Amino acid sequence: MLALQLKHDLEHIGHSVAGIYASGEEALGGIETARPDLVLMDIKLQGEMDGIETADRINRQYDIPVIYMTAHSEESTIERAKMTGPYGYLLKPVNVKELQIAVEVSLYKSKSDKEKAQLTQELRSALEKNREAEEALRKTNEDLEYRVVERTKELDTVNKELKAKIMEIIRNEEERKLAEQEAENMRQAIAHMSRVSTLSELATSLAHELNQPLTAIMTNSSAALRMLSGKFDPEEIREILEDIIADDKRAAKMIRRIREPLKKDTLEPRSLAVNDLVRDIHRLVRNDALLARVSIELKLADALPAIRGDRIQLQQVLLNLVINALDAVKGSASDLRRIQINTTSGRDGSVAVEVSDSGPGIPETSLCRIFEPFYTTKTKGLGLGLSICKTIIETHRGSILAENRPEGGARFVIVLPAENP
Ligand code: ADP
Repeated sequence: MLALQLKHDLEHIGHSVAGIYASGEEALGGIETARPDLVLMDIKLQGEMDGIETADRINRQYDIPVIYMTAHSEESTIERAKMTGPYGYLLKPVNVKELQIAVEVSLYKSKSDKEKAQLTQELRSALEKNREAEEALRKTNEDLEYRVVERTKELDTVNKELKAKIMEIIRNEEERKLAEQEAENMRQAIAHMSRVSTLSELATSLAHELNQPLTAIMTNSSAALRMLSGKFDPEEIREILEDIIADDKRAAKMIRRIREPLKKDTLEPRSLAVNDLVRDIHRLVRNDALLARVSIELKLADALPAIRGDRIQLQQVLLNLVINALDAVKGSASDLRRIQINTTSGRDGSVAVEVSDSGPGIPETSLCRIFEPFYTTKTKGLGLGLSICKTIIETHRGSILAENRPEGGARFVIVLPAENP
């Protein structure tokens, strides 16, 4: 009866009633199909389960608010009912106003609970997403850091290799420069030595070997002189004179032998550019000239024909002429110390090298003698340089001449035939 009254009251206040059930089991079945917004539950029911137990099941299975209705208000029943979290508790008999308030409040509370739950869920999933995003970010960061470390390592290695390569290139370049410098020093040393050793060898062996016949000549001449002042045997004098002649011949032979190495069969002829020879010599004497404040000017003709000859011997000739010129200008005022080396080509295809200086020139009386062996006007001179130059140039089928320049100073001119006239 009460149930029907309630249904009527509920419909009156604008709600529809999905079902009325006598037992808890029936109620659960009805709820399963109808899914109502609210359940009004009598605590006392027919069947196995009472209202509190049924409400407890509803709570566990469905998210539907329950309002209890009971005539009892014993403490123990209320305590049990409280545990199931009801939305309201109506005491019978229920008046419409109380019912309306309880239903409206429960529906509103259930709705806001659902919204809250929904919001909480949304918040949770947002938090979860956030956590996932953070995790992904952390992983990306880690990955990035790892890659940065790896890349840094790689770069470090490449950097080190690059550095090593650069150092190697620098070292190689330095070594190459050193080697070049060494080669140049060597070349200069050899050129110096070849000149110095040729001359000093000549001088030493000449002095040594000539000493013997000269001493013999001296001894014999003195003996002959002594004999002439007293009683003498012409036969003995003849023998002495013959000895003197023999010693003289020996001395002459020695001189010839010493000059032999400069003869044709010892040449090592090859195709040569005269301008290169001049440049070689210029490089060789440049420092000495600087120290002596002598300017050396080169005027080298273009497109000179090649000549054929022995490089070292021709270098010796040029070196000798330039050193003589340096000796000659050293006495002049420092702003007048000049040497000029010119190369020109003759019409007959020959090549000429001129070495001129601003020195005092060659005295007229010496001009015809300077190419003679042992002719020197220098205190420490050997007088062999120009005679060797003449021999070398003549073995190269060339000519050498010396003259004084009208403007002052000496000029030596060498003419050599072209390789392919
Ligand atoms: P040395 O230089 O040992 O004297 P050389 O045969 O080279 O032997 O020279 C012979 C001489 O020729 C020199 O002593 C010098 O009198 C003269 N002479 C050579 N070159 C010049 C020059 N450029 N100017 C003036 N005199 C020179």
